[in-house]
Amino acid sequence: MSLPEFYDQDALIGVLTTQPLDRVLDYKAPEGGCHLGAFVEVPLGPRKVLGVVWGPGQGGYDLAKVRSVIRVLDVAPMREEMRAFLTRAAEYTLTPMPAMLRLATRAPGLGDAQSMKKVYRLGDGTMDRMTAARTRVLAVLEEYGGLSFTLGELAEMAGVSPSVVKGMVAQGAVSEQDTPRNTPYPRLDPTLPGLELTDDQAEGANQLCAGVAGGTYGTTLLKGVTGSGKTEVYLEAVAECLTQGRQALVLLPEIALTAEFLTRVEKRFGARPAEWHSGVTMTERRRCWKMVGQGGAQLVVGARSALFLPFRDLGLIVVDEEHDTSYKQEDGVLYSARDMAVLRATFCAAQVVLASATPSLESWANAQAGKYTRIDLTSRVGAAEMPQMRAIDMRAEDLPGNRWVSPTLQAAITDRIARGEQALLFINRRGYAPVTICRACGHQIGCDHCDARMVEHRFQKRLVCHQCGETKPIPTTCPSCEAEDRLAPVGPGVERLAEEVQALFPEARMAVLSSDLFGSARALKAQIEAIAGGEADIIIGTQLVAKGHNFPLLTLVGVIDADLGLQGSDLRAAERTFQLMRQVAGRAGRAERKGTALLQTFQPDHPVIRAILSGDEEGFWQAEAAERQAAGVPPYGRMAGIVLSSPDIQAVFDLAGEMARRDDPLRAIGAQVFGPAPAPIARIRGRHRVRLLVKADKTAPLQAALARWAAQFKLPANLRLQIDIDPQSFY
Ligand code: ADP
Ligand code: ZN
Repeated sequence: MSLPEFYDQDALIGVLTTQPLDRVLDYKAPEGGCHLGAFVEVPLGPRKVLGVVWGPGQGGYDLAKVRSVIRVLDVAPMREEMRAFLTRAAEYTLTPMPAMLRLATRAPGLGDAQSMKKVYRLGDGTMDRMTAARTRVLAVLEEYGGLSFTLGELAEMAGVSPSVVKGMVAQGAVSEQDTPRNTPYPRLDPTLPGLELTDDQAEGANQLCAGVAGGTYGTTLLKGVTGSGKTEVYLEAVAECLTQGRQALVLLPEIALTAEFLTRVEKRFGARPAEWHSGVTMTERRRCWKMVGQGGAQLVVGARSALFLPFRDLGLIVVDEEHDTSYKQEDGVLYSARDMAVLRATFCAAQVVLASATPSLESWANAQAGKYTRIDLTSRVGAAEMPQMRAIDMRAEDLPGNRWVSPTLQAAITDRIARGEQALLFINRRGYAPVTICRACGHQIGCDHCDARMVEHRFQKRLVCHQCGETKPIPTTCPSCEAEDRLAPVGPGVERLAEEVQALFPEARMAVLSSDLFGSARALKAQIEAIAGGEADIIIGTQLVAKGHNFPLLTLVGVIDADLGLQGSDLRAAERTFQLMRQVAGRAGRAERKGTALLQTFQPDHPVIRAILSGDEEGFWQAEAAERQAAGVPPYGRMAGIVLSSPDIQAVFDLAGEMARRDDPLRAIGAQVFGPAPAPIARIRGRHRVRLLVKADKTAPLQAALARWAAQFKLPANLRLQIDIDPQSFY
């Protein structure tokens, strides 16, 4: 590998900073010079800011006024491939480069000098007297030979107070040393044996490994029903990647899944990988960022932003549950982690594995078109079979208006409990009730800042706005007509369903899984483990349970409202419902016992419900693909969602109208503008929202045209313009 270009002291260089400026700034290289790509600290006005040496300076003015780089940070310079990736990603998502750089440096204190911590190991001094406590400390240190511990670890393992250790340090029996805090992660051993693979798995694994060994770019869609052993298969590709001496990244859609996955990695490779997500501490984030750059981390398990870590030699990216909507960042930089994974891989000659039981239509179509390789795992590992799926026709069920568990579903649950098995009831609504209505005047309690109803959360004893998070106490008096005690909850949420189920099955042990009921990732993890261990008879959950957990005793899944997702006007409504229902159903019967999934629906003849029940997946995808092709929408056409928002309603409509009229740059590429229209949620956090939609042919140079189009308008103060390429949601 050749070294990046070097700039001598005082050479004019361009530095990209993390500050919202629209250009690279000129500086003089610092004393001792610097490399292209170096992370530097530069003066900006009165401040010091983080930047990266981006190339030679522009010049063209009084050089005497150019300030110097303050210092070069002690971290690996940004690699050429990373600069190219960020540039391309910025172009694709129409994101300014400084925002891209911020995304790539999301670890605090990167510039801090290497921080140190104290560690303890066996010393050679002798002690004046031995005590039982001191003997235990020595026993631990001797047992672990040359290893060193932090004070807390050592004290805990020996069962002594830290002062005992400190006393031994004073006498030299234990030595105390400073070591750098950012240490490499323990080595993973790819040669340890994995599970014995089934023939299907082995074939898939071989194919993936061959790709990794080839050392070039490629994307594979790994499609397999839940429980078919996809994870086991892609871990083989990880092993191959580590054997090649390259780094691997596994993206998971949900932090709650990482614990289970880390344990699996530890079993497979003998040590735990690096972690990168919102649940890890700042110190640990910094360690991860630095070690990834230095090659001290072989495998990173993380959330979507891990794609922007400074890998030294990334050879494999796995996007698990690739269809998951959480991969699309919906705030700040708008990007799809799935698309960015593919983009990043093209720059570093890496393989991408997109794993899912229910792939996105995008990936399905790419595989169909031959852009992605496709591997299918069609059967579950071992005895497990796919669950039987049936509809419960709610039109024929005898059920009062404020109850949601049909007699048929109730009977099925009773049956499972009697057999010592578990039942899962799925409802995709957090809280107690989605609407609180006044029986006297019909008033529905809404959020003061958003065009949304407040959702009752009985557990928290508050009304919560799911748009902005605003909460207020549950009133006893109607805010509109002031009638007393006439407010009533309408519709079911997960908490209300739990109440009903508890009344139906007073003896049953119940567990409720909803993201807002857990204070921490740890509490959630403990709950999930308890369920897997059989400590619940009935599990009630929101979307959270649809994602990849293994509950061996679970044999019945009841979907409370299978129609819920079909109502939206969202172009992906059918796809989402199909995926979600199949994912949820896939939770049942993962071990030896056969599973059943029952879908409560008022529309058993709806084509999506029929496709779910029949299990004719390819048929569903083909029909869905044909419809989108006919409509010229993604993945067969291109779209951009434009949202204008401002506290000033007139200003948003004025500008939106003007944008729709002055659409020459878009028309020049054959694109069309739709709207403006009030967004489905017309006000969030006090800001009025108006949407425009731009549609273009698949091959049209959409981003460049959008940039030219948007550049024509001057935004009034306080008006935000957001452009979302390939929008996933249309709220
Ligand atoms: P998926 O990712 O497709 O849902 P997993 O890889 O999680 O499937 O496998 C499902 C379950 O089957 C896990 O408990 C896993 O340990 C087990 N499993 C997978 N492959 C094998 C195998 N070849 N032999 C035995 N057990 C396996
Ligand atoms: Zn609100």
